[in-house]
Amino acid sequence: MLYKNKKLFIDKISANQIIKKFGTPAYCYSYAQLKENILNFKRNFKNIDPLICFAVKANNNIKILNEIGRFGLGADVVSKGELLASLKSKINPKKIVFSGVGKTYDEINFAIKKNILLINTESQSEIETILKIAKKIKRKVDIGIRLNPNVDAKTIKEITTGKTINKFGLKEKEVIDLINHYKKSKYLNIKCLSVHIGSQITNHIPYFKMLKSIQKIIDKSKFNFEYIDLGGGMGINYGENTQKLNYKKYSKKIEKFVKKNSIKIIFEPGRSIIGNAGYLLSKIIYIKKTGKINFIIIDAGMNDLMRPALYKAYHRIIPTNKNKSKVSKRHDFVGPICETTDKFLSIKSYQKLNEGDNIVICDVGAYGKVLSSNYNLRSNPKEILIKNLKVFEIRKKETLQSII
Ligand SMILES: *Cc1c(COP(=O)(O)O)cnc(C)c1O
Repeated sequence: MLYKNKKLFIDKISANQIIKKFGTPAYCYSYAQLKENILNFKRNFKNIDPLICFAVKANNNIKILNEIGRFGLGADVVSKGELLASLKSKINPKKIVFSGVGKTYDEINFAIKKNILLINTESQSEIETILKIAKKIKRKVDIGIRLNPNVDAKTIKEITTGKTINKFGLKEKEVIDLINHYKKSKYLNIKCLSVHIGSQITNHIPYFKMLKSIQKIIDKSKFNFEYIDLGGGMGINYGENTQKLNYKKYSKKIEKFVKKNSIKIIFEPGRSIIGNAGYLLSKIIYIKKTGKINFIIIDAGMNDLMRPALYKAYHRIIPTNKNKSKVSKRHDFVGPICETTDKFLSIKSYQKLNEGDNIVICDVGAYGKVLSSNYNLRSNPKEILIKNLKVFEIRKKETLQSII
């Protein structure tokens, strides 16, 4: 993404041209950026040679999943829908893990039939459900057990998952008890110990603490896991001086851990793979100037991009036509939805804008489209992909007909 003669280009294609052809609001993805992120991730952990399972909940577009799968990645799914999408995208079932606290009998049954790598369980009741199905079909099922290490990921409270007050995983003692209880089971094969402590993590210290908790379980239980699933959560730079995760330190630490325990590692990254590869293209409908604030009313709303309203997430907003002016007045970029939280950004000054101008909300590839809703009875936006200098529509805009 860069400006040429003050015009914005995404992967060498003019943003204005894309908007002219495909309309707004629309999610636009860069294949080049996606590829770079995957190669970077692999490079960062090359000494560990992990199985990388993309967290489908970050972005479930079939075409995107297919591209990710072609780089050899698997998938981390949290519902039957995500499992179906991954299989349809030709992701290898033997590279799919199933996470989540509330998998139903039907979902588990389906996952077992599809021969996925493992089901990461989060409660004894869930294990019992798996056991019931396994007995019924007389098959041994591979499972993981998710540990809640009670580690503060030092991220936004709403996306923290590894503290005891969070619903996820099981406490150390519970994990050890379950291992002892089920390790000789004819129908269960405990293959993996899994963790996931939260998202948008930019400090390696919580990860270090997490590894320590895992080591404790291994030492205390003396159980030989085939895999340790370290989850995802790697933070990205949203452009507001966020600290950067020190991959080198994290990777070194894991390397030692792997050598000590001779174990295979699974990662479940979502945001770090697709986050900065997505843009939300939008158009200014109206500009409403009040005494203190210029309200820039755009045609994308919180139903299209929920993150700012949901967890006060910050996203840069940039114009497709740059100019040198500066209006020193507060600008609030807002959507058309009838909610005060339908606001994307409040900024002290901005370049001069006009009604009808195009703008781009950056870094929305992860937890963007997937969180969209039909609130205010608006249809979900389309998705497009730029690959090798070509632009493709990869999901149609929902029709009002289909949702009414
Ligand atoms: C959400 C989630 C992930 C992905 O988190 P990112 O921050 O997007 O990397 C991985 N594993 C589990 C179990 C999750 O719930």
